[in-house]
Amino acid sequence: MHIFLPLLNILFLFTLVVGCGGPQKADTAMDAKPLVVATTTQLSDLARQIGGDHIEVVSLMKPGVDPHSYQASAQDITNLHSADFVLFHGLSLEGKIARVLENVKKKGKFHFSPCVALPKEQLIQGEDTSAPIDPHLWFSPDLWIQCGHLLSQKFSEFLPQNQESFASNFLQFKQSVKELDHWGKALVGGLPETSRTLITSHDAFRYFGRHFDIRVVALQGINTIAEAGLADRTNLVDFIRKHHSPALFVESSVNPKALKEIARETGSVIGGTLFSDALGSDSQFAQGPKGENLPTSTWQGMMAHNLRTIEKALQKTQ
Ligand SMILES: [Zn+2]
Repeated sequence: MHIFLPLLNILFLFTLVVGCGGPQKADTAMDAKPLVVATTTQLSDLARQIGGDHIEVVSLMKPGVDPHSYQASAQDITNLHSADFVLFHGLSLEGKIARVLENVKKKGKFHFSPCVALPKEQLIQGEDTSAPIDPHLWFSPDLWIQCGHLLSQKFSEFLPQNQESFASNFLQFKQSVKELDHWGKALVGGLPETSRTLITSHDAFRYFGRHFDIRVVALQGINTIAEAGLADRTNLVDFIRKHHSPALFVESSVNPKALKEIARETGSVIGGTLFSDALGSDSQFAQGPKGENLPTSTWQGMMAHNLRTIEKALQKTQ
């Protein structure tokens, strides 16, 4: 009797594990998708558009968050360590979490930046080669398509069984970006030459200006870490008065206070809020080229919102 009791207990436990917990656990494991943790909202959106249903995406940064000054939370560290694939921007955009990202890299996970992999000659740099590269390259439709292509290739290495799906998602993404690009060029191209100046809080729109042929002027440089000095402010006020610039644009991820004061001082108006370093939310929409509603949490929605806001404000001022 005594000999059989432990055996029965073991059998009982085995039944519990296999009968209740076991299969449930196995199902969960089979259903779980690989976890892609992306630093910025732009990259999270790109991962979702290219990865589709094959991956789970977690974004460290949320709408309205400034990546230049973003610091990792305890939850971010947990997310990064449980990630199967870490997607980051680089080029000093996420300046404050560089060390955290380095530590994750040492764990040997998939660790990738499509932006860093772009040919350097296509990127915008300051006056000399020691100046930092401008990281705001998602504003160039051409470069963002290239980033999408590089990501689809990397995802194919990561999950080779889904290669065809990633390639087809990329083609769909490329087509929608090109559509928005052609429409945007026609929209901005319709503005008179004299009103094609985009004045913003920080210098995030140089790729946008280069692509859509619009002059860009900003209160601050390409980074928001240091506040604008008195000289920056005076220079901008002088520029606005000299060129009779009628509209200034605040940014969703930058404090609008300084720009609003300058608008008051110069008699200019605030032409609207642009998405600069963060995309919008799932519940905020912009009208796309065909009048369709695009969530501003996507690159396409963000660009449609910015292009329409800029065109409306600068057209009105004629
Ligand atoms: Zn920026």
